[in-house]
Amino acid sequence: MKILYPGSFDPLTLGHLDLIERASKVFGEVIVAVLQNPQKNPTFSLEERLRQIATSTEHIKKLRIISFDGLTVTCAREHNVDLILRGLRAMSDFEYELQIAHTNSTLSNEFETVFLATAAHHSFLSSSVVKEVARFGGNISHMVPEIVAKDLIKHFN
Ligand code: ADP
Repeated sequence: MKILYPGSFDPLTLGHLDLIERASKVFGEVIVAVLQNPQKNPTFSLEERLRQIATSTEHIKKLRIISFDGLTVTCAREHNVDLILRGLRAMSDFEYELQIAHTNSTLSNEFETVFLATAAHHSFLSSSVVKEVARFGGNISHMVPEIVAKDLIKHFN
């Protein structure tokens, strides 16, 4: 089965990467879909985020990286996927993710949303927490792939 993993990935964390690695063992093909979303005013440009993901996932087979703008269900339809993947870190994610999954199911009944639980040791990680630590010069080497750490240090210096 083909599964779409949509997100902002601004930037990719080791939590995202762990989810991609585990999904690629379970599903036939994983498509990481990076949301362009200029309204969100991302820290990293779309090109930077695509490059960060491509470099960090070179070891993963049957993986595609694309960008999209607009509705996730439209992207899922265009790429002919069977499932949509989202990660769950804690109860705080659950309500929001359930709301999105229900909304998507009212827009299209072609796809099921699948949730994978975050690895416990990555459950504290979010892109915004990582950026906050990087902004104040803290150690981020255990939070993000090497290329992202380099980009963050460059960005906040
Ligand atoms: P969005 O703006 O769509 O929430 P994110 O890049 O923040 O984009 O997250 C994309 C997906 O990755 C979401 O399903 C989110 O729950 C999941 N995710 C975020 N952080 C982690 C983490 N530390 N471990 C696993 N999954 C995560």
